[in-house]
Amino acid sequence: MSEIKYMKFDELKTPCFVVQERKLRENLEILKEICDDTGCRILLAQKAFSMYRMYPLIGEYLNGTTASGLYEARLGYEEMGKENHIFSPAYKEDEMPEILQLCDHIVFNSPAQFKKYKDLVKKAGKSAGLRVNPECSTQEGHAIYDPCAPFSRLGTTAEKFREEMSEEDLRDLDGIHFHTLCEQNSDDLEVTIRAVEEKFGEYLGRMKWVNFGGGHHITRPDYDRERLKKCIRHIQETYGVEVYLEPGEAVALNAGILLTEVQEIVENGMEIAILDASAACHMPDVLEMPYRPPLKGAEEAPSEGVPAGNAAESADNAQRQAGGEPGEEKKRRRYIYRLAGPTCLAGDVIGDYAFEHPLSPGDRLEFEDMAIYTMVKTNTFNGMKLPDIVLEREDGKCEMVKTFGYQDFKSRL
Ligand SMILES: *Cc1c(COP(=O)(O)O)cnc(C)c1O
Repeated sequence: MSEIKYMKFDELKTPCFVVQERKLRENLEILKEICDDTGCRILLAQKAFSMYRMYPLIGEYLNGTTASGLYEARLGYEEMGKENHIFSPAYKEDEMPEILQLCDHIVFNSPAQFKKYKDLVKKAGKSAGLRVNPECSTQEGHAIYDPCAPFSRLGTTAEKFREEMSEEDLRDLDGIHFHTLCEQNSDDLEVTIRAVEEKFGEYLGRMKWVNFGGGHHITRPDYDRERLKKCIRHIQETYGVEVYLEPGEAVALNAGILLTEVQEIVENGMEIAILDASAACHMPDVLEMPYRPPLKGAEEAPSEGVPAGNAAESADNAQRQAGGEPGEEKKRRRYIYRLAGPTCLAGDVIGDYAFEHPLSPGDRLEFEDMAIYTMVKTNTFNGMKLPDIVLEREDGKCEMVKTFGYQDFKSRL
């Protein structure tokens, strides 16, 4: 066994992800309370957060893991070892034997996939489910995150379900799965459940379980948990089924930071700080989603170049940095910087932020809410170093979980 290496927060080398055990536990307590109160079962959706060093802790609170494919399924099996589910839009034949060993629930995307594999699932003594598409969009703006958007390949519509699922198929089907939410509250779940009942209600009573998918922002302060519990109980009691939830984000929401250091500051119409963290490589959702992550000690500044309203501030900023004294009439000055990555990509920009003090090379910045959809999505484009992974224990000690180097770049090519 290798020795655990402890470090002080100030000694950490950048860039690195620092995952906070205390915050993770707080989230898990909230989730567990829902299980305890309603009897539902909650699984970690590993695609959001696969830092398996934390799986023993997560396993103390949740019922298991869910996977988007074979490798996640194997990770959940090896590192948590509790209930293990999987969903994939299309399973590869050569992977099915291993999946059947690893997983308890296998959720199919279409009647064709279900028919193709259902006998194997039954023979392995596992549970077979079908993902449905209730065709009920409850999110605007993020079409790429909306499985109910037109022409979606995700889930079976009521029309196809009726056409293609025979009476025998229905006898072999153990559960219904839907996943249509993304960072949403329980009012949207309520609307979705109404649509699911309207379209698939006649089948629900024949099922053993109904899986509500993920996207429930349960650990967010304004999330209405009582309404969630009402939804869970309604389905449990009306149809006599087991209810599953499989949140990813909610498990590790606000449970980690990305620590980075200012390398250089350049000026071109505004001040631009070049960091040793990259949006493209280390937080790709910032560009894909897109969103601007919260930054400790700074506020978001209006983006898109130098906006008219901030031009004066920016000029002030430049003057101040050129050695000008602060005007006494203005109590609180804001120093606006565009924070950007060190790659070749012109758009490797995290966003514009306002600080109370000017930035200098060597300053450390903490991007918040960086545990989810970050470590699982990093890449080494431009030969960038992957951020180290650090666990901040509840007593404040930092444990180095993983360091990365040149070989991690080279070995994939
Ligand atoms: C993405 C996904 C989840 C987890 O979603 P979060 O938004 O991270 O809660 C759960 N189930 C399925 C099928 C998914 O695709």
